[in-house]
Amino acid sequence: MKILTYFEVKDGEIKKASFETASKAAEIAEKLNGEACALFVGENISEEMAKSPSRVNIKKSYILKNESLKTFSNSIYASAISNFAKEREFDAILFPATSTGKDLAPIVSAYFDVPYISDVIKVDVENGDVTFVKPIFSGKAMKKISVEENCFVASLRVNVFPVIEKHCETLVESVEAKLDDVKSSKVTGYEKGSSELLDVAEADIIISGGRGMKGPENFEMLAEVAKLFGGAMGASRAAVDAGWVPHSHQVGQTGKVVSPSLYIACGISGAIQHLAGMSSSKVIVAINKDKDAPIFNVATYGIVGDLFEIVPLLKEEIKSLKG
Ligand SMILES: Cc1cc2nc3c(=O)[nH]c(=O)nc-3n(C[C@H](O)[C@H](O)[C@H](O)COP(=O)(O)OP(=O)(O)OC[C@H]3O[C@@H](n4cnc5c(N)ncnc54)[C@H](O)[C@@H]3O)c2cc1C
Repeated sequence: MKILTYFEVKDGEIKKASFETASKAAEIAEKLNGEACALFVGENISEEMAKSPSRVNIKKSYILKNESLKTFSNSIYASAISNFAKEREFDAILFPATSTGKDLAPIVSAYFDVPYISDVIKVDVENGDVTFVKPIFSGKAMKKISVEENCFVASLRVNVFPVIEKHCETLVESVEAKLDDVKSSKVTGYEKGSSELLDVAEADIIISGGRGMKGPENFEMLAEVAKLFGGAMGASRAAVDAGWVPHSHQVGQTGKVVSPSLYIACGISGAIQHLAGMSSSKVIVAINKDKDAPIFNVATYGIVGDLFEIVPLLKEEIKSLKG
């Protein structure tokens, strides 16, 4: 079996989630006596960068180049990737489920003409078949999927799969991308958002606030804690709908799905739609003054109390720990 694993590069750096996905690709290939190869797309990928998948046992990297791939456009990138995968007879392509991965993967699957499995949280090999598990109905149930002849495109949820360090030699080949004459939007530029904080979808530590924060001014306190942790600030939909925090911070069914090592929920009741976005976090801390709030059912640690007393104490504690 031949698997391609997509490496996403932003601001000159490879996204960590690419290594998580590539580790899984290498593992599947090993179990099926196949081959896993890394795929970089763009004009500014150096040979040295394309060698970095050597960290996770990927022995071959490809760089797809073309003038038209200078800036990201989902349909142009998808056309280049699927043409390349067809020409080199790959069976499957894995993407990290970052915002770019989620944008690109379904279009690639359509062009490549194979099924797409999104937001996967578990991958295994059983009797020669690759099997996937993904949450459905806002995480109320899990769906197990396998695909005929192991031909698929899948996106793997960020922060769920570990990076498995297994060093090897990686050969790099640059390939001129072949593009179809696709109708495409043209990206003319990018503008950085105002927040200095990390994106919730990719942060390893998140502190989130809900309606219990009482107003926009109190989110500053959460942003400070997030900064101390080197993490991100999240929010419930109630806080976003009230206009206290931009939608880019929203966690949940109609927001972002997160799986950090630590998720701290402050003044969030734990509605099913919120849990759908964060219940796969490794450690969940809930701060709520209502001891019966449903968030405590999923919390690893629960603090029943007033967040306006607890969060400042938490901030001071982290400050003193960080010296
Ligand atoms: C189709 C659909 C999609 C949705 N998508 C999302 C989504 O993506 N994300 C999402 O979050 N919601 C989503 N919702 C909304 C969801 O149902 C809830 O309404 C929302 O999550 C509630 O937000 P909350 O927990 O902040 O507010 P509330 O439910 O009002 O909870 C506030 C909590 O704060 C606590 N509190 C108050 N004061 C304090 C204090 N001083 N100290 C400590 N605790 C305090 C209260 O005890 C309470 O538990 C969706 C709903 C629908 C119908």
